[in-house]
Amino acid sequence: MNRDENLKQLQNKEKIWDIVVIGGGASGLGVALDAVSRGLSVALFEKADFAKGTSSRSTKLLHGGVRYLAQGDVFLVLEALRERGRLIKNAPHLTQNQAFIIPVYNRWDRIQYSAGLKMYDYMSANLSLGSSRYISKEETIRRMPGINPEGLFGGIVYYDGQFDDARLALSIAQTADHAGAIVLNYTKVNALEKDASGKLSGLHVQDMFSKKKYSIKARMVVNATGVFADKVLQMDNPDAAKTIQPSQGIHLVLDLDFLGGKDALMIPKTRDGRVLFAVPWQGKLVVGTTDTLREKAKLEPEALQKEIDFVLETAAGYLTRKPTRADVKSVFAGLRPLARPKEGSTKTKEISRSHKVIVSESGLVTLTGGKWTTFRKMGEDTVEYFPKVTGLAMDPSRSKDILLHGFTKVIPKGHWAVYGSNAVLIQDLTKADSGLSERIHPEFPNILAEVVWAVRHEMALKIEDVLSRRIRMLILDAQAALDSAEKVVKLMASELGKDEGWIEKELEDFRKVAEKYLIKS
Ligand SMILES: Cc1cc2nc3c(=O)[nH]c(=O)nc-3n(C[C@H](O)[C@H](O)[C@H](O)COP(=O)(O)OP(=O)(O)OC[C@H]3O[C@@H](n4cnc5c(N)ncnc54)[C@H](O)[C@@H]3O)c2cc1C
Repeated sequence: MNRDENLKQLQNKEKIWDIVVIGGGASGLGVALDAVSRGLSVALFEKADFAKGTSSRSTKLLHGGVRYLAQGDVFLVLEALRERGRLIKNAPHLTQNQAFIIPVYNRWDRIQYSAGLKMYDYMSANLSLGSSRYISKEETIRRMPGINPEGLFGGIVYYDGQFDDARLALSIAQTADHAGAIVLNYTKVNALEKDASGKLSGLHVQDMFSKKKYSIKARMVVNATGVFADKVLQMDNPDAAKTIQPSQGIHLVLDLDFLGGKDALMIPKTRDGRVLFAVPWQGKLVVGTTDTLREKAKLEPEALQKEIDFVLETAAGYLTRKPTRADVKSVFAGLRPLARPKEGSTKTKEISRSHKVIVSESGLVTLTGGKWTTFRKMGEDTVEYFPKVTGLAMDPSRSKDILLHGFTKVIPKGHWAVYGSNAVLIQDLTKADSGLSERIHPEFPNILAEVVWAVRHEMALKIEDVLSRRIRMLILDAQAALDSAEKVVKLMASELGKDEGWIEKELEDFRKVAEKYLIKS
């Protein structure tokens, strides 16, 4: 994946791309992957880094959604369970099986949750990750030593998938790129272009570093910009009504021993009626989430004090050791797109839990809603509109069977797993330069060779790309990431041929972002 080479391809003014995708999160990448699987020519533009938006801020679960089952949305759960199974097969290096325990405090909970989870097992059929079962109070405490035993009756164990969201995004981008798509980060779509009949014919993009502008021709344009979808809809039609109301979900990251063991805690109904998870992930415990309406779509949303208090208080109710602000290693926030209430109404509702594809009069295709787990199906359903929008035929989708970049049957051990088949190539870098085997931070297993690899092969251009999304240190421990920035930036500067001035500016940019992940106690 070479950014300069991909930018060069934009200079060909005569080229007409079959599909141009705006947005390099789960949705846009799913579209690009499906389109290349059908032999279509594809260009994808992301104004920041791949997965910089909501797609690096999820709970990192590949799930059918037990709670949608409770709401009777059987079709949605079935679809997600199928996609969960496919992804685990196609990207075993980025996904894993995770056991969850729902603590039970009375007989009714036991009956209710056991029945629901048996149904979940049944629907998973041959894609099941394990059967749910009731466990005693003693076993619940043994498996989750940090659980508050007061009033505890027992627990119900069930299984779902877990993944590394930002690295999956990268792997999909690499897969699409190797299959012939051009994918570009830090390339913003500024305007759409129409022909005399008012149909979309192309768009204007800009390299956010060189500021160079390009004019691109396209047969179909897909708006996959998540909470930013209205901005693109307004590029298409300046009078377009606002359709999206962002709703924020935050996660707090704690030391793993607050819960202990390997199992995740799932609370089906918190005080505000949401689900709360406390999930072991990459050596820490990720706890969330919330549902708070926000006015603006932002790339770097910030957790509110009341959200932090809510998560801490709710988690404290279920843990023997009560976490405080001082225990929080990092806090990160993501935005989900809710449907904006119609004028006069105050109610918001989530844009279909399932995804939605809308075709505007100009032919602009907008994909909204859905979830990470179903990104591939969302892409397939969007590309299905290609014949309708362009009048051209296309091949059937083959994205179901594409093995994602790094696929290997022998998963490397420890933190190397996410690199899959590339792990050995990164380790080889240390043979030529033993200095690259130095750790980036004493409390993290990652080594300097990973920084070099991220710059050379993973389109990492800023400190944040490396420390937040190639390596997940910023969201696991914000202070550790801040402490590592200088070491990382020096190596990046030597790889990218940058000077002192660039280093200073990068450090300043990174500090500004990283401080948002710290909680002042
Ligand atoms: C708190 C929370 C927890 C979640 N947990 C889970 C979970 O555990 N499992 C699960 O399956 N799903 C989960 N989800 C849902 C999942 O994260 C989202 O459905 C998914 O990430 C949305 O991806 P997206 O591509 O639509 O949006 P985004 O990831 O926001 O991507 C949109 C991209 O468009 C880019 N963009 C915007 N304007 C332009 C422009 N003009 N030019 C170029 N690029 C542009 C942005 O920079 C951004 O990167 C969660 C969501 C939230 C909020």
